[in-house]
Amino acid sequence: MINILDKTFVPFISRSSIESRIAELADLICKDYEGRNPVFIVVLNGAFLFAGELVKNISLTCEITFIRFSSYSQTESTGNVRQIIGMEESIENRDIIIVEDIVDTGLTMAHLLKQIKDFSPKSVEIATLLHKPDALKTPIDMRYVGFEIDNKFVVGYGLDYDGFGRNLDSLYVLA
Ligand code: 5GP
Repeated sequence: MINILDKTFVPFISRSSIESRIAELADLICKDYEGRNPVFIVVLNGAFLFAGELVKNISLTCEITFIRFSSYSQTESTGNVRQIIGMEESIENRDIIIVEDIVDTGLTMAHLLKQIKDFSPKSVEIATLLHKPDALKTPIDMRYVGFEIDNKFVVGYGLDYDGFGRNLDSLYVLA
């Protein structure tokens, strides 16, 4: 059990389970993209450890780039739409794999997909370490999912609680 700020978290998924599942996802990606040169677009901050472990297991000749959402939000009829920043490489006509920490309601990913598609990539797939199927509010096609989990708050392995806990080498869940 660990305490972060005012909350207590208990062990959830071990480092070895995470790493072996990521290696499986990497194998799948290598098979799917054989002979191609995909671009991994890593969504900061949460996906940094997942992405690091994933790409270490990728034997393809590939590019890796990093984006984040702007901290400001712009209100549209659909709610808060945050713009992506850091898209410097041209991804026109490229095979894109978005690397995310978690797809919860799916709203963030839906906005991201819409913005990425504006750059006219050849294909777009999603690799997410975690997915909460019961929380999903919009359909998202996710080809590479590490673990489907219950609708509970998790921390560690890149994911934070109020900025803390990203450095934990395994996943913890709110007690
Ligand atoms: P969405 O609801 O739009 O799918 O999720 C957006 C973001 O909420 C994720 O990228 C992640 O940063 C955060 N999030 C969702 N569920 C959790 C969780 O269980 N733990 C942590 N640390 N962040 C979460």
